[in-house]
This record gives sequence, structure tokens and C-alpha cells, in this order.
Amino acid sequence: MAVRIDGKALAAKVKARVAAEAAGLRRRPGLAVVLVGDDPASKVYVAGKERDCAECGIESFSHRLPAETSQADLLALVRRFNEDDRVDGILVQLPLPEHLNGEAVISTIAPDKDVDCFHPFNVGRMVIGDPVFLPCTPAGVMEMLDAYEIPLRGRRCVVLGRSNIVGKPMAALLTLRDGTVTVCHSRTEDMARYTREADILVSAVGRTGLITGGMVKEGAVVIDVAMNRDEHGRLCGDVDFAAVEPKASHITPVPGGVGPMTRAMLMRNILTAAKCHQAQ
Ligand code: NAP
Repeated sequence: MAVRIDGKALAAKVKARVAAEAAGLRRRPGLAVVLVGDDPASKVYVAGKERDCAECGIESFSHRLPAETSQADLLALVRRFNEDDRVDGILVQLPLPEHLNGEAVISTIAPDKDVDCFHPFNVGRMVIGDPVFLPCTPAGVMEMLDAYEIPLRGRRCVVLGRSNIVGKPMAALLTLRDGTVTVCHSRTEDMARYTREADILVSAVGRTGLITGGMVKEGAVVIDVAMNRDEHGRLCGDVDFAAVEPKASHITPVPGGVGPMTRAMLMRNILTAAKCHQAQ
């Protein structure tokens, strides 16, 4: 039976370290959070991030804007935060309402305050192996692999999904750590052929039951990034946990796996930004 990777416990440790370091700074680190519209899931995520900030001694400045906010007004707010010395990190909760251009918003965030690590400058720094920040979800996965002393060098890593937020940076980080990485996506033919070869399988697709027991190699490490809802409305991942757990060497549960680590990595990025700003 697989070792269950306890993201919740690990995240608590990371956040405790962030809180201890934040307490030693001259000024409390600050996060500006912008939520446009009233998407229920986004509201829950933002509330969680505000709670994490409070726990870590990070001040949060929240701005809730109506769904009909214009691009110009949103960019003006981001620019204001860029200039505000109390703000170390800026987070604009995605997805934005359809009339707003998310890429333009991300590119307007000052790179030294881009604690989500979505700005093209920071993505580039990450890919060349000289990061300022690491993208929160893939960084959380790497932290879990390291905490459970899972070797990566030369191992076959298969990442399912190629989004800018999860799949692509996940593949980049595994490559930088000498994994041999294959990325699958919606156009991949016979995906099971790849997943069955994986020593480390990271699924970030968003389809309940996508990964069955037959798609996983005996002894594989299985990381389930997805956050889906099953037919009863319960949170679940891509992996058929009951079928895969007996085969895997390590597995992340959903909930309690990657999710809490993503949030903890955000706190760590805010601390990194604050330390840089206070050293200037
Ligand atoms: P996304 O932007 O929708 O990307 C999904 C990816 O999956 C795409 O690359 C897509 O391929 C691929 N895909 C779709 N159907 C597929 C199939 N049948 N077989 C193989 N690949 C397929 O989603 P995302 O933002 O990366 O998020 C992915 C999942 O992770 C979601 O469940 C999301 O809720 C979750 N998530 C969790 C956390 C966390 O903290 N735990 C953080 C972020 C996201 P194409 O590129 O070809 O369309």
C-alpha cells in the first residue's frame, strides 16, 4: 500500500517557517489580493489565501471589484500596487470575467511582486534555472517529492496537462532536476502507454476518474494536482484513488495533498519578495 503524501502537514510546517521569518523582518510583508466579480470558487480561494496570510503574519490588502470593472481600471489598480511600498506581492485571482485580458493584467504586475510567478519574465527565469519565484502548484509538488526523499534524477516523469499554470512549469521543474519528462495533453494518442512507464506521474487535467489502476506502474509515485467535484459534489482528483493506492509507492490524496502546498508556496513567495524589498 502506498505512502500517503501528507500535503496538509507539510504545508503547516512551511507556513510555520514563513511566519517565523516574517516576524523577524523590519516590516510585515504585504499581499494585495484583487478579486473581480463573484465567482464562488474564486471567493473561497481568496478567503483561504487571506487566512493563510493572517496565520503567517502577512498583511493582506483585499480589493473586491464588480464583474463589470473595465480593463483600464483593473490595470490602474495593479499599477497602484506596483508603487505601494507596503505591498510585496500582487495576486489577481483568475479566471477573470471574459471581457478582461488576463495576460495583459499579469504582464502589468511588477515582476518583483509577481508572487504567483505568472509574469513572462519570471516564467523565463524559472525555465533557465535562475528563478526569483517558483510557480506555487509545481513548487508545492517539488517540495512534497523532496520531503519524501523521492529521487528524480534520470527517472521517467510523465506530466498530464500543459497549462501555463501547472503542466508546463511542472515539466520545466522536473527537467531542471534531471527527470526525463514526457508531457501528455488532450491530443495525446494512447495516453496509457506513457502513464504506464512513469516512475513519477503528475496529473493536472481536471477529469474525475481519468487515471485508473491499469494506467499506473507498480511502485510509481502518483501526484494528483486536480481539484474536481464528483457526482456527490465532493472534492476529488483525476486519480481513481482506491484503485491506484495499492499499486503506487507514494500517492497524494485529494483533498489534503497538492492544494495546501500550493497555498503554502504562495506564502513562501510573499516572504521571498518581502526579503528582497527590505534588502534594497
Ligand atoms: P487547464 O488549463 O484546463 O488545463 C488542463 C490540461 O489538461 C490541458 O493541457 C489539456 O490539454 C489537458 N487535458 C484535457 N483533457 C485531457 C485528456 N482527456 N487527456 C489528457 N490531457 C487532457 O487546467 P489547469 O489550470 O492546468 O488545472 C488542471 C487541474 O488542476 C484542474 O482540476 C484544476 O482545478 C487543478 N488545479 C489544482 C491546483 C491545486 O492547488 N491543487 C492548482 C491549479 C489547478 P490541451 O492543452 O490540449 O487542452
